Amino acid sequence: MDAEPAPAALRAGGILTIDLSALRRNYQTLRARARGAECAAVVKADAYGLGMARIAPVLRDAGCRTFFVAHVDGGIALRGVLGQMPTIAVLHGPPPGTEALFAEYDLVPVLNSLEQIAFWRGAGGHAFLHVDTGMSRFGLAPCDVATLADDPALLRGVNIGLVMSHLACADTPAHHANTMQRDLFERLRQRLPPAPASLAASSGIFLGAEYHLDMVRPGAALYGIAPDDSGANPMAPVVRLQGCVVQVRSIPAGATVGYGATFRAAAERRIATVAAGYADGFTRVFGNRGAVWLDGTRLPIVGRVSMDSITVDVTDHAGPPVGPGTLVDLIGPDNPLDAVAAVGGTIGYELLTSLGRRYDRRYIGA
Ligand SMILES: *Cc1c(COP(=O)(O)O)cnc(C)c1O
Repeated sequence: MDAEPAPAALRAGGILTIDLSALRRNYQTLRARARGAECAAVVKADAYGLGMARIAPVLRDAGCRTFFVAHVDGGIALRGVLGQMPTIAVLHGPPPGTEALFAEYDLVPVLNSLEQIAFWRGAGGHAFLHVDTGMSRFGLAPCDVATLADDPALLRGVNIGLVMSHLACADTPAHHANTMQRDLFERLRQRLPPAPASLAASSGIFLGAEYHLDMVRPGAALYGIAPDDSGANPMAPVVRLQGCVVQVRSIPAGATVGYGATFRAAAERRIATVAAGYADGFTRVFGNRGAVWLDGTRLPIVGRVSMDSITVDVTDHAGPPVGPGTLVDLIGPDNPLDAVAAVGGTIGYELLTSLGRRYDRRYIGA
């Protein structure tokens, strides 16, 4: 007898649905928010785990002309995806020995230090300049900017297409660091050769027009992450994650669930095993703490998270019986990304970029 091949979702254990029309709407929302400023897109870490090869062309077709990646290899991969036109900037700058790659793939380095500037002066050509206004992570310190201002020869031959900085506390609109960084950025810019300026990432766009300058650089908000927690999320959800139930059992009062026997049933319970675990980015923190949703019902995760599975209590689910192949929402309309991340003690950024490679990935709304 010929067996029907199992649907891809069953073979993969779960479905990661990525809504490209929501991505497109989010790009338009952010661009409208930033009014006259150019709206670039940050697609580092494989577009926050969602697949740069599928994400970047949608953004380009929506009008995006500048993309940011973290590493040279990300830039090379993106050039292969996008072809010749858009600008691709490499946030970490040029490691020594990569000049030829920057030229071959037409990548723009973000120069972060006097060392990188000195190195790039020899290579020549376009560059963005990153100044540090309070992150202490990337970029020229104020004293480095003073060094450049005192000796213009240090920047000779470097064609600066953008001066940028990055906000540390933009998701907290009232934080004093925001105005402090903006003011310092304005002062530092004035000591550098004139160039367009960029300060705001996703959250910064929502701080208001004084932060938009010439270019905004959203990443997270494009992918549906809330720019701050001040109210309803203005971004459309891009991601839905469903796990497949593999088996369901009844356990008697007193039985335990999972490694370490950390959950003990007080009464008879129905337990469903769902095929996603910490190897799929579903962190162990969710053990005895998180929940999945089905037909509007919250189904608590009981016991520890395993590598490839979680166990959920489906006793209270009233709808059609839960059985092998039932899909439950790990991230969905009832349990949005940011809320799930918060239960896991993290943020949407980390949850997205942790989602494993083995889900059945479905891109809709192309
Ligand atoms: C990651 C990053 C961004 C995008 O930040 P989001 O909060 O995801 O919008 C922008 N600029 C720099 C320098 C970054 O490192």
